[in-house]
Amino acid sequence: MWLRDIDGVASLDVITEFLRLWDLISEVVLHPEVPDVHYWRLSASGQYTAKLAYEALFQGAIQFGPWKIIWKTWAPDKCRFFLWLAAHNRCWTAERLARRNLPHSERCPLCDQDDETIDHLLAGCVFERQFWHIILQRIGLASLSPQPSDIIFEEWWSKVSGSVSHTTRKGLNTVIILGAWTLWRHRNECVFDGTPPNLTRALIMAGEESRWWNMAGAKDLSLLPAQAV
Ligand SMILES: [Zn+2]
Repeated sequence: MWLRDIDGVASLDVITEFLRLWDLISEVVLHPEVPDVHYWRLSASGQYTAKLAYEALFQGAIQFGPWKIIWKTWAPDKCRFFLWLAAHNRCWTAERLARRNLPHSERCPLCDQDDETIDHLLAGCVFERQFWHIILQRIGLASLSPQPSDIIFEEWWSKVSGSVSHTTRKGLNTVIILGAWTLWRHRNECVFDGTPPNLTRALIMAGEESRWWNMAGAKDLSLLPAQAV
């Protein structure tokens, strides 16, 4: 009976679908005395819920790892947005400029040794490692500084963030965003203003930034053992 409802010109796709459906229902035996029921196949009980329907929208989607650590951490939006771009490798480092055949420096402007990638700038560079060591030492967490084996910034961040208590974690994550933001600003000074890289200057910038953040209500910074970042 339902075949009669199919009208219009059947394309190849429609015929293929029809034959597949035929196969699927060929074994079905209908019992006219049994009423139809709705069955939601995405739940074990067969019951529909809006929550399950919503979750079904994301089946097969790829979860972006660092989203939580970036967006759940207290920091000014522009800094979190910078980290978001960094996590997507969307910052205009020499490596990204080179990929688009745009003018770029040959080496990292801070250490003048390696290629400039965002991971190098935020974790792998010797300049950055000294910077992180001093910043983290001030809050009693020097042991968490990036090591030569820590070459991916996100991986290092996720590792150190997971290694401290919940209370310390909140402040630490804010400090890491503050540090990364400062390093990027200092890098931009070197690239665009011709300023020579200077660790003391980068640390002063971080201290000033920290004071602004405290005034703006960065309460998580006060959770750290010492807060003179
Ligand atoms: Zn470097």
